[in-house]
Amino acid sequence: MKKDILLLGAPGAGKGTQAKFLEKEYNLIKIDTGNIIRNTIKEATELGMQAKKYVEQGKLVPDELVINLIVNTAKQIKQQQKNFLLDGFPRNLQQAKALEENKLFLDLVIEIESSAENLIERISNRRLCTNKNCGGVFNLKSNKSKQENICDFCGSSLYQRDDDKEELIKTRFETYLKETLPLSEFYSKQNKLIKIDGNKDVEEVWESIKKYLSKN
Ligand code: AMP
Repeated sequence: MKKDILLLGAPGAGKGTQAKFLEKEYNLIKIDTGNIIRNTIKEATELGMQAKKYVEQGKLVPDELVINLIVNTAKQIKQQQKNFLLDGFPRNLQQAKALEENKLFLDLVIEIESSAENLIERISNRRLCTNKNCGGVFNLKSNKSKQENICDFCGSSLYQRDDDKEELIKTRFETYLKETLPLSEFYSKQNKLIKIDGNKDVEEVWESIKKYLSKN
């Protein structure tokens, strides 16, 4: 399969988990925007210091800080004749347009839809891998790591994101509805969007995605 793909969905929809399967199965290069931004904050780079306050408030980091970073990463992947898997970018219409202005056109947008109830349950039980190159995502209830608090993929320890705590979840959903959901219509009009029911088990969601990709 040779496709440049975007994973769309609210926080907690399971994008990170499915991204991990997709990159492995189809040899895609994942661009996990949230993870990239968290790393810039950890490393206290210039960008990280500016991005920190937005992430801490559950708001989007301003476009001028994010667009160049992600567009350049995607361009590098294309220069190597590889396909990218975008997770968390674009997150608003300006970012979607920036991709097109840079001749980065998506072949497919996979929107994972989940009920608000499931999203909240997943976010509050989500645990991430501390290894910045790994991107392992687990859930204390629905997708446990084999060993408690240890990543199945690389053996590093797991942690809970600060912005996954209850106080911020509401703001992050509001941001998603206002800024990111319009992308569903944007890509639907371009006939690039498929919707996947994300209320099912991790494995079932993955089967639905694979089934679609095997036919298209
Ligand atoms: P995520 O891991 O995708 O939930 O992203 C975590 C946080 O990083 C978000 O709440 C935003 O503050 C920031 N972020 C991630 N992707 C973007 C983006 N495309 N544009 C602006 N901010 C972003």
